[in-house]
Amino acid sequence: MSETTDNASTFAILTDTTLCTGCETCVHACKQTYQLGRDRAWRWKTKIDDLSSTRFTTIVTRPGGKHVRQQCRHCLEPACVSACLVGALQKTALGPVTYDQDRCMGCRYCMMACPYGIPRYVWESPVPYVRKCIMCYDRIKDGGQPACTESCPYGATIFGTRAEMLEEARRRITENPHKYYPHGEPHIYGEHEVGGVSVLYISDISLEFLGWQAELGTEPVPALTWGALSKVPPIALGVAAAMSGIYWVIGRRMRLQAEAAERAAQEGADG
Ligand code: SF4
Ligand code: SF4
Ligand code: SF4
Repeated sequence: MSETTDNASTFAILTDTTLCTGCETCVHACKQTYQLGRDRAWRWKTKIDDLSSTRFTTIVTRPGGKHVRQQCRHCLEPACVSACLVGALQKTALGPVTYDQDRCMGCRYCMMACPYGIPRYVWESPVPYVRKCIMCYDRIKDGGQPACTESCPYGATIFGTRAEMLEEARRRITENPHKYYPHGEPHIYGEHEVGGVSVLYISDISLEFLGWQAELGTEPVPALTWGALSKVPPIALGVAAAMSGIYWVIGRRMRLQAEAAERAAQEGADG
């Protein structure tokens, strides 16, 4: 994992839910950028508001017509990275938490470790792996900004350094102290939670429903994951025992991948 020494100069997104109209321009920009294709909705669902392997960001609509964008928070000390035994998830020095689909063995420890329930499994793949928002790492590495923030017509979700985003959040709160939640002492969600994150929110409603529960605390979560616990001798024994099961999962995944490649080659030859 790359160490980030100056979190203020890493990149971040600020979402101001008071400006979001729920137009989903950001959702479609993301889908287009990553060619995520059509959502596979359950028949009884008329509106898709959950993340999925084809939806890295989504809009949750609350009673009263409040719209809230959901995506990976790009934690400063991500539990998903710490939980991943094969290094498929990485914290980059610029801020985004990325993943390498080819390394992922599909064990889903990251899904269990994430305090916000973000990573999604590609169930429809014969060799399932995990996917999530990567904060458009390639775009920001090239000096650009995420497709979602660039596309928002209302400035409801914006991009900059973490220091700039915190400053902008404070500016909006100072200018409209009664607009934001909790009234009287508005909160910048993500400034301190789980050690701080790179996707910050300000809102006129409580965002507990999005996983911002006070019980999460301000301590980073990685200390509780296998990555850290495996360094404690008695726990390491348990981890070693579990590794044999994990090697079985990796082996099965490699076999399935080889079979899928063989089938594709065969179809090409027949075709
Ligand atoms: S929100 Fe979850 S998936 Fe995203 S960086 Fe944090 S721990 Fe990882
Ligand atoms: S930052 Fe990029 S990957 Fe993440 S939701 Fe926005 S467009 Fe999608
Ligand atoms: S594009 Fe902007 S206003 Fe539209 S849903 Fe996304 S965040 Fe909200």
